[in-house]
Amino acid sequence: MIVTPERFEPLLAPVEGREAVSFVFRGFEVLVREGDAALPDDTAFAALGLDAANVLPVGLWRERYCRTAWVRKESVAPAGYEFKSLRALWTRMDDAHLAIAGRACQICEWARTHRFCGSCGKPMAFVPGERAMKCACGHSAYPRISPAMMVLVKKGDALLLARNVASPTGRFSALAGFLEAGESVEDAVHRDRALDTYERVLQRNLDELRSAKQTENARIEQELDERIAELRARIEENNQGVSRELENLRAWQARKQDEERRIAEAVSYFVSENPVSTGTTDPSADDQGDTKHVRQN
Ligand SMILES: [Zn+2]
Repeated sequence: MIVTPERFEPLLAPVEGREAVSFVFRGFEVLVREGDAALPDDTAFAALGLDAANVLPVGLWRERYCRTAWVRKESVAPAGYEFKSLRALWTRMDDAHLAIAGRACQICEWARTHRFCGSCGKPMAFVPGERAMKCACGHSAYPRISPAMMVLVKKGDALLLARNVASPTGRFSALAGFLEAGESVEDAVHRDRALDTYERVLQRNLDELRSAKQTENARIEQELDERIAELRARIEENNQGVSRELENLRAWQARKQDEERRIAEAVSYFVSENPVSTGTTDPSADDQGDTKHVRQN
């Protein structure tokens, strides 16, 4: 864990005549030597030609003066050096220097972003003996602290772990988060748990909705099947109705032919040319095709 090293003393005024530990920031990146990630020594620091107003005291550690300075975003690292994020230096830089670098970074960023009054826009001035800046209008600015909490919730042998949905590694950890303005650590724990609980509620709602919709879809499918079966039965019934009528017609035609044959036989004694037709008519033909009857004498 990164913690402020023992015997570190915060400083509000520079110390002259001692070799310094210099943390030079470009945004949230610190200047280190390529290869061994060493901080710039006094010679390298002086070579940067920084504006004295941009150099701030941080503290004393092991009799060495720790200072920080900021450069513009467009600044380029001198030959043999590079700007690296503190996270990238984790394991490359020892924990004590990394902890002081974290402190230096916050002081630097505060100084860089509070050069002018947030109330009236005039230049701010450092307050002697205090980590504060003040404007002639009365407005003061202090370094922003971002309190965070981390809590391990236990239930018997089990631990409550959570993970951020945006986590690239998907790793679970104890509940942790930043405190909102006016919030206590306990409030933050409850809020974090509430968020997790709410996420579970949303997930459960989704599961219930999915289940209900799947049941409804199954019912609709069943209704579709039943309706299709019903309509098919009606089609079949219609076809059967037509078939029955066709059979009736054919039966009638057969009887008609018998009748015609008998009539033809009866009249054949009296005429040389039989005037009675005895052929079948095509049931699919139109009405005019079935108009042959006994010719009147
Ligand atoms: Zn002001």
